[in-house]
Amino acid sequence: MNRPLKPLEPALAALRAQALYRTRRLFDGPQQVRQTVAGHEVLSFCSNDYLGLAADPRLSAALQEGARRYGVGSGAAHLIVGHRRAHQELEDALAAFVGRPRALLFATGYLANLSTIAALAERGEWIFADRLVHASLIDGVRLSGAQWRRYPHCDAQALTRLLAERDAVPLIVTDGVFSMDGDLAPLPELVPVARAAGARLLVDDAHGLGTIGPEGRGTLAHFGLGLAEVPILIGTLGKAFGTFGAFVAGEEALIETLIQGARGYIYTTAPPPALAHATLTALKLAQDEPWRRAQLAARVAEFRAGAAQLGLPISEEASTPIQPLSIGSAAHALDWSRRLEARGLLVAAIRPPTVPRGTARLRIAFSAAHTAADVARLLDGLAAVARETART
Ligand code: PMP
Repeated sequence: MNRPLKPLEPALAALRAQALYRTRRLFDGPQQVRQTVAGHEVLSFCSNDYLGLAADPRLSAALQEGARRYGVGSGAAHLIVGHRRAHQELEDALAAFVGRPRALLFATGYLANLSTIAALAERGEWIFADRLVHASLIDGVRLSGAQWRRYPHCDAQALTRLLAERDAVPLIVTDGVFSMDGDLAPLPELVPVARAAGARLLVDDAHGLGTIGPEGRGTLAHFGLGLAEVPILIGTLGKAFGTFGAFVAGEEALIETLIQGARGYIYTTAPPPALAHATLTALKLAQDEPWRRAQLAARVAEFRAGAAQLGLPISEEASTPIQPLSIGSAAHALDWSRRLEARGLLVAAIRPPTVPRGTARLRIAFSAAHTAADVARLLDGLAAVARETART
């Protein structure tokens, strides 16, 4: 006799009841700040395409040129026969960009985080992670089998106290720019704490690379820190660089350790080489066109000034293109997002479990492709929704 399957619907219904149900939207065209969704034109503040490169025709041309040279599929994992010239050129260019001896490409940032942490820590050891690090870092910590604790967000002193009770701490893990909060990790304070504990500091700079620091070299460059202070740097390519993929950068021995032991590197097909070829162009454009970062910074400044004037709950700490507006409950965040969309403004409501319970928010993300008029339109929309929701 077969046993009945556990039904899946009750859990889905519970998510709906808590305003936590997630749905996808369907877009017909490329990633741009002006999008058409369900037949309506909307102005989007949702993407991580911070430099406005995702749909740049020069990247499409580079992808096509890459496909002409390499075809589409890589054919195998890097360690079998998948590692091609375009991958190597991109690794060399990324290493030079972040000023490190070597870089290693991964298929995605999620995979890079998961497998780097799992390769560098083991059962019996301790990992410490900022309370608000990205989910992929937490999953890596869990996969490693190490014991772990979260330290209070950006609190180097609390971390020092927690570390005093532990030996064998191979890793301390933080985002460079926090993905849902837009603030920077206090790296100059974390570096000596990690050093004293004999721990390697791992920084996931998915949102900092390309957007902040001199020439967009990221959070470490912003603070003037290098390999000696932060041995493990992780970057992603699907955000400011507008393409897809990720990399880990560090010393020779780190990269060789990952090649030998990172399961998410070893046991997966190498990404299409044409993509690596396109990313080489993206990396060059990100450096050659500093006006993109200047535009981005101008939009962020305009927004922060306007939002402060309107008395909107912006974050004191967020200085980056990620600007959270604190709402509180998931249902209210969703309500704000829907009301904004009715005005043609697309702004993501971020709810638990992506952020801690009770801290649902609107995550406003700026792009170099936004204009000053776009920011003014967003501010008008927010002011109107603030008035509406105050009345209801
Ligand atoms: N790290 C951070 C901080 C992120 O925000 C993200 C993506 N949201 C990732 C890693 C994962 O990168 P990818 O999308 O390339 O898997």
